[in-house]
Amino acid sequence: MSLNYETDISFINISHGDSTLFEYKPPASFKSFSLDLNVIKQNKINDIFFHLNRGNSKIVYIRKDNLVYSIATEVEKIQFQVLEAIIEQVIKEFNATFEIDIILSYSTISPSIFTAFKDEVVKILVDFDSLELIKKVAVFCRICDTTHFIHVKRSFIDNKDAYPIPLVYTHLGHSIMCYIDKNYQVRGVELVHITG
Ligand SMILES: [Zn+2]
Repeated sequence: MSLNYETDISFINISHGDSTLFEYKPPASFKSFSLDLNVIKQNKINDIFFHLNRGNSKIVYIRKDNLVYSIATEVEKIQFQVLEAIIEQVIKEFNATFEIDIILSYSTISPSIFTAFKDEVVKILVDFDSLELIKKVAVFCRICDTTHFIHVKRSFIDNKDAYPIPLVYTHLGHSIMCYIDKNYQVRGVELVHITG
């Protein structure tokens, strides 16, 4: 079954402090993610992608100065790199659409300013495949004796100073380090041990 990001993404949230400026939820979704969002908003580390597993959900979030952007899915086969690519595109469009620094300088911010941004988000989700922000990379894991297809953000590979780029792929309870060259070919794979 092919993916439908418009329904497969459980939420996209843009927050400032404790307030939600913008939230996308798929049609007919009544789920609340406020507990997870509270955890996310406490994290002060800037400009780093964080991954969370919560029940069946995968959540990705990133703080960009005053704003925290987050996205979640319950669809197992949507990989964290795909969530990162979607949220990167949301960040790009959001900042192209709004003069955020000026809006944040207002003493009160009405979330209604951002309501129409939902159309932009739907467009990103519906057109996501044609944006070509993701590449599919085949990698053979000798632990489970299987070729896997990992989804890699182009922004993670393109225009880097040095190759190959290391990426850890966690699946079925184990993790492998994949070294990906600039042509999206895997140059080496090794088992990595992980704790936490
Ligand atoms: Zn494996």
